[in-house]
Amino acid sequence: MRTLAVLNQKGGVGKTTTVANVAAALALKGQRILVIDLDPQAHLTIHLGADSNPDVPGIYEVLTGSADIASAAIPVRENLQVLAASINLVGAESELVDEVGRETILHNALERVRGQYEYVMIDCPPSLGLLTLNALSAVTEVLIPVQPHFLALQGFSRLLQTIELVQSRINPALHVTAILMCMYDSRTSLSAEVLEDIDRFLQNARHHDVPWSRASIIPVHIRRNIKLAEAPSYGKTIFEYEPTCNGALDYMAMADWLLTGTLPGEPHTEPPSLTANPNCEPGEARPNGG
Ligand code: ATP
Ligand code: MG
Repeated sequence: MRTLAVLNQKGGVGKTTTVANVAAALALKGQRILVIDLDPQAHLTIHLGADSNPDVPGIYEVLTGSADIASAAIPVRENLQVLAASINLVGAESELVDEVGRETILHNALERVRGQYEYVMIDCPPSLGLLTLNALSAVTEVLIPVQPHFLALQGFSRLLQTIELVQSRINPALHVTAILMCMYDSRTSLSAEVLEDIDRFLQNARHHDVPWSRASIIPVHIRRNIKLAEAPSYGKTIFEYEPTCNGALDYMAMADWLLTGTLPGEPHTEPPSLTANPNCEPGEARPNGG
């Protein structure tokens, strides 16, 4: 069972869009997948057309001990289940503040469904509080979506420090698998500059003992595509809303990369989590020319 947290404390970079559509792509490819909506905004829950009603058990009830994942996970598509968020989640961080082992509640809950899914993906809130700590304690891989913006890397060091802290104190297996460029626009020099900055940063980390020393930039960039912004309001994934648009092609290619470590038409190698390619160039094998 591969477990991934999609995390960036910066808001609006594409975390939820990525979880919804990569999960949908993996499910279409026959992988059994559980997605967890750890954001009180419940955008993932709504995007997948699930119920964010506070009376229906979801992630809040799992964290507070009144439900387990097996009973709270809602099937939303073939092979795809969601542990839904509701407005109750707003209070979870303060309610759990006196709880012993409060950072590892989700980890313990996931242990009980180990083997029932091939993938578990967590949509984190845009913060580094207790909910995010629970995600980082529960997974082995972190995916960091980045929007090519002139302050794209602002806050990056705090994000990485938090990952390092959780790795050293709670979860030794935790590592950053990859950075994903979202809302990418190959026509702007800013997109290319941000990409170069990240690449340089990752290259510098190669010989250091840090949880991102094997991270690579995913060789699929998710292009800016209005269809990706429209689909959530219909409770649809991009494959249901506009299956031939660039957004659908990009997320399907990203799912291929996660599954096999390659893009369609490339020779097969081991999955990226096993062989995180230290030499991966950001411009390599990009299907969208971005
Ligand atoms: P938050 O931090 O608030 O949880 P987020 O990181 O989860 O935000 P999203 O909600 O996925 O970000 O995306 C922010 C907005 O950008 C949404 O309106 C979404 O529909 C839109 N969006 C995401 N990816 C793309 C894209 N590739 N092209 C166009 N719009 C996009
Ligand atoms: Mg979100």
